[in-house]
Amino acid sequence: MSQTKKDSYFFLKSSDSIKNLPDEYLNEYCFWGRSNVGKSSLLNSLTKINLARTSKTPGRTTTLNFFEIKNKIRFVDLPGYGYAKRSKSEIYSWNKLILDYLSTRKNIISIFLLIDSRHGLKKKDYEAIKLIRSLGFHFYFILTKIDKINKKELNYCYNKLKDFINDNSKSEQKIFCTSSKKNLGIKELKSLIKEV
Ligand code: GDP
Repeated sequence: MSQTKKDSYFFLKSSDSIKNLPDEYLNEYCFWGRSNVGKSSLLNSLTKINLARTSKTPGRTTTLNFFEIKNKIRFVDLPGYGYAKRSKSEIYSWNKLILDYLSTRKNIISIFLLIDSRHGLKKKDYEAIKLIRSLGFHFYFILTKIDKINKKELNYCYNKLKDFINDNSKSEQKIFCTSSKKNLGIKELKSLIKEV
């Protein structure tokens, strides 16, 4: 995939059902993680689309949101998990939407799983990893908000995640350390996406 400087992302659509998805013509890269992990901010940095505005649209965080560079690539913003202030039936329907999407979509290239660098892996993250692995996806970890911690804390979090990966996977799995606020790690992430 070659991207030029003129390429820009646009908001394609939101889907609340897999009956209502865009075509499968373009490669899709998914972004997932706990609610409040910094997913909108990261997507904002990557796409230069002001998601803060889009996030005010009712229901945006409960749908699959597609961003596209025309005829080249798509990013998919999956509903965040672990949001306590929601009913069981709402959470069930989001989980179903994500599961239906991930298990039937043919054009997903990889999944980026965002982890808050201050907290590391939590119970819900392990569940997400289990699901991603069971479906056979290639995925990457993105540590977010690294501007909020010092170097020692980041090393600790990074190494703990690395140990988890080494214990649970035979293949090398990349970890990106990012801060949307300080624009750290964004270039590396963009390079990887271009390469893939
Ligand atoms: P989402 O729920 O995963 O989409 O998370 P948001 O992107 O809305 O971010 C949740 C909160 O974390 C907001 O208050 C953001 O301003 C803040 N945040 C997100 N990314 C960063 C970051 O890299 N550094 C800092 N300091 N705050 C961040």
